[in-house]
Parts: sequence; structure tokens; C-alpha cells
Amino acid sequence: MKYQELVEVYQDLEKNSSKIKKTEIIANLMKKTSDDELQKVVLLIQGIVFPKFYGYELGIAIQMMIKAIAKSTGHEIKRVEDEFKKLGDLGVVVEKLTEEKKQSVLVKKELDISAVFKNLQELAYIEGVGTQDKKLNLISELLSFAKPKEAKYIVRTILGDLRVGVAEGIIRDAIAKAFLEDDKESKDAVDYALNIYPDFGEVALIAKSKGIEGLKKIKIKIGQPIQVMLGEKAESIEEIIKNFGKIAAEFKYDGMRAQIHKDGDKIWIYTRRLENVTKQFPDLVKLCKDNIKVKRCVLEGEVVGVDKNYQPLPFQILSQRIQRKYDIEKMVEEIPIQINFFDIVLYEDEQLLDKNLLERRKYLEKAIKQIPNRFVLAKQIITDKVNELKKFYKESLNAKQEGLFLKVIESKYVFGRKVGGWYKLKPTMETLDLAIIGATWGTGKRAGWMGSFILGCKDEKTGKFLECGMLGTGVKEKKTAETDITFKELTEILKPLIISEDASQIKIKPKVVISVDYQEIQKSPNYDSGFALRFPRFISLREDKGIDDVDTIERIKYLYNMQKKSK
Ligand code: ATP
Repeated sequence: MKYQELVEVYQDLEKNSSKIKKTEIIANLMKKTSDDELQKVVLLIQGIVFPKFYGYELGIAIQMMIKAIAKSTGHEIKRVEDEFKKLGDLGVVVEKLTEEKKQSVLVKKELDISAVFKNLQELAYIEGVGTQDKKLNLISELLSFAKPKEAKYIVRTILGDLRVGVAEGIIRDAIAKAFLEDDKESKDAVDYALNIYPDFGEVALIAKSKGIEGLKKIKIKIGQPIQVMLGEKAESIEEIIKNFGKIAAEFKYDGMRAQIHKDGDKIWIYTRRLENVTKQFPDLVKLCKDNIKVKRCVLEGEVVGVDKNYQPLPFQILSQRIQRKYDIEKMVEEIPIQINFFDIVLYEDEQLLDKNLLERRKYLEKAIKQIPNRFVLAKQIITDKVNELKKFYKESLNAKQEGLFLKVIESKYVFGRKVGGWYKLKPTMETLDLAIIGATWGTGKRAGWMGSFILGCKDEKTGKFLECGMLGTGVKEKKTAETDITFKELTEILKPLIISEDASQIKIKPKVVISVDYQEIQKSPNYDSGFALRFPRFISLREDKGIDDVDTIERIKYLYNMQKKSK
């Protein structure tokens, strides 16, 4: 398929905001795509070239893209920067500048999807000496073959910002519409498959070649993460006991969720966002190799950072290990870990999703050899006594953990949140997880660094980020503790994400998520969310969370209403 055909679909998607229409456009595209291009097309339509869990990043900052555009269009960097300031979208900039150049270039190669796809994937593979130059050359060469509109979408795809408004739910419905019946059973089958294979391309191909029965038969593939089960908020212990009687209560550990896959000697570790962190945790890999008694399995547990006496460390300390790409052995020494297992979904070749909680716990007990303080089962009690649960809750808080999970004994393993079965109980202080979407340059002691940060919550209807406050407190000028983050460090993390600058105002691509504490939520006409956090304070960098996990405007409204009620 010609890349040009995909470009026409992108344009159609941009023009049509209705979900139904978008689904139809994508379903039509899928129908006319050949089997060997289907997986690529399904990824490209989402603006990606790898399923998210592969963990490959194209690693192109805005500044590098500006250089690549200058090179491919033959303009000065300054000109590209000026256009970017005016237009605010490098896709539109490259389109305009390629258009201008058109007359002077005689032949353009016809780009096809496979070639574009391969080149974009290549960006993620380039490593070692001269990486930046090689990437720059690859992009500018690709762009120099592209027609103006093609260049626009290539640039947006590389920057991870396609802007054609295709949420995952639309792709799911489009797969059903293209290859199955347009009914609930089909959508559920696609949903099930996507939870087990979070790879839309592969699921589309199975739907096409094997239909609904093929999707229903999909089984967990070792090495490939599945979507995780999450909890809802419990109002109180009393309410849960009233509704469910006897329940299994477990410590809610304050750490990183790990989904561990084992196949013989091979171990994979995924986070709750399905990021592969195997390389960052060689100590956990070793513990698993030595102490998992079955050959093949998929287990889940919470990894907690501990000190020399096995006392838990705050999550922010462990979080330094999650994204770490270098000095890994040093980190293993400095921040030892403990894992607390709470679930198992595959035991040898038996899939356990439909077994109830207690049955799964039995399999878990059989699957691992416990090593005190290091490799253990999550603490659990089974009871219908409110007092016992209150005592257990206190015990968890005293042990510096987050609270309790109250789990319904009969519950099966179901994907996602709001599914019932697991209820979490934590002290009520609600922090918010927000994206940094802007900043201002600091003055005085903070000169040269970003000095305050604009916080953004998510509008799920449009996928956009809305401003809801400005934060300067909690970020440090000097590092006095391991968990501190300084203005300098935060500036360095945010710099590659700068979209535009205007006087001292900086617009930042939403990518970095932080947990924020605040005194109160107020209504405010100054921010486009309509709300402002009063006295927001930085608590931690949430490297374990992505922009999909950012709190929504609905959540802020809800907290605002709760706050009004309690006054
Ligand atoms: P928040 O979004 O409020 O910060 P969170 O990140 O802890 O909460 P939740 O949905 O509240 O997410 O809780 C689910 C997470 O709790 C799981 O992903 C897992 O990492 C962690 N967890 C800790 N202990 C347990 C346990 N015993 N059973 C299940 N999950 C647990």
C-alpha cells in the first residue's frame, strides 16, 4: 500500500470528529489492507511502530527534528524555529516548508507503507557512537522523499503526536466492524484478546484470519504481558463486609507491580503499564530463577525497596531503579528489593484466569519457594470480622505500607479497574498524578532552570490536557536527601520536551507525570480546566506512570465536590 493512501485516511480522521465515523474509516482501511501489511497499518494508524509493551523508543527530541527538517527542506534552522513558534506543530511546519521546496525538486519517490514503517522502526535500533547523527540522517533522508502531506504525518509519528484522535477504543471497534459482526459479542471477544495480547496489529490479524472463535481461544503467551487487574476504592471495611461477608485482606504494598513471566531459564519482568523492566532488575531475575519451582508460569507481585534490615523504603527510592539504563549493578547494591506475590495467572500450561482468588493463591503457594524478607507471599488474612481487619489495616500502615486490598474470595482475574472483586483501602489524603505541560524560566537563585511548572489534568473526552495549577513548592534548589528532585534535574528531564517558548513561558509536551499534594481545589477562571489547586506541592516523580495514568478533570471535579460536602 502506498503511504499516500494512509495519509488520506489520516486527513479523513482529522476532519471527522465523530467516533462512529472514525471507526468506519478505520474499518474500511483495515478491510482493504493485505494480510502482510495489516499489522503495520494498525500500528501506524495509532501513530506508533511497535506495540507499546516492546518498550522501544524512537528517541527524537523536538530540537533534533527541527534540524532534520532544516536539512531535508534546505532551510536555515532559524527559519524552521520561527515557523514552529508561529504554527506550534512541526508536522504543519514541515508540510509548509516541503511545499515551498517542491518546485526545486524534480523527482519524488513513491513511499510505501512498509518502507516508511521499516525506517521508523530503524530509529529505535540505532545505538552507540554517532547515534544522533545517524538518526538525523535517516529522518532527513526519509523526509526528502516525502510529499508535503506525507512529511507532515511522518514527523508527527516520529514525535509520538499524530493528532488524528484515534483512541484505543476506536481501534477495538474498528477491528470488530472490519472482520466480525458489529455486535457486543464481537467487541467483547476483541477486548478479551487485547487484554491478553496488548498488540492491536496481531489481534486484528487473528480477527481477520480466524474470526471470533480464534479470538476467544487466545491464551496467554509467555513473555508477552497481559493487562493487569486493578482495584476500586472501598468506602469502608464495614461496607465491604456487609456486601461480601468473608473476604481475603492483603497488605497493599507501596512499590512497583511486577508481572513476572518464566519459561525455563528465561525471565521477563513487566510493570503495571506493561513496560519491560527485566534489565533493570537482575537481582529479581536471579531470585525468580532460583526460587520459582515451576517451569512455566506468569506471576504477579509488588516489588518493594528495602534497607539493610529489610525495612521498606519509600517508593520514590525504588522508582530510581525503574527507568535506570546504566549503573544497574550499583543500584542493585544500593537499593535491594523484596517481592510480595499476590497472584498467578498461568501455571505450567494451565491458564488460571477463571479460578477464584483462593484457588489461585494455592497455585501460587505451590509455584514458589519463599525466602523470608526477600521472596514471599503477600500477607493475607481471611475473615469477616471488622475488628480483625481494622487491626490488620493498622499493621500494614505501621509497616509503612499503603493500606489494604480487600479481595472478594470468589473473584476471578479480570482485566482493568472498575471490574469488581478487588477493593483498596488507603488513608484518605488524596494526591493527584498530573502531567507537566508548561513551565516558566526561574529568576534569582533559580535562574537558568525552570522555576515553576504548569500542571495538567486529562480531559478523557478529547484526550487533551487542561491546566489546573502552577507548582514551585517541593522541588529543591539543592539535593539534601536521596529522594529530592532539584530544579536542575527536573529542567534536564523536561528540556527535550519543549514545544515552544514565548518570553518566559514554555510549552511542554505532556510526558512527565508527578504526584502532587495540595491544600484545596478551587474554581478558577485562570486555567482552562476551570479549577486550580491551591498550594500544590511536588511529592514525587512518577516514572512508573505514563500520560494515560494522569488524573482526569472528572476526578478533580469529584474531589472538589467531596471537599464542598465535608466543609
Ligand atoms: P494510585 O493511582 O492511587 O496511586 P496505585 O498506583 O497504588 O494507586 P491502585 O489501582 O490504587 O494503584 O492499586 C493497584 C496497585 O496496588 C497494583 O497495581 C499493585 O501495584 C499494588 N498492590 C500492592 N499490594 C497489592 C496486593 N496485595 N494486591 C494487588 N495489588 C497490590
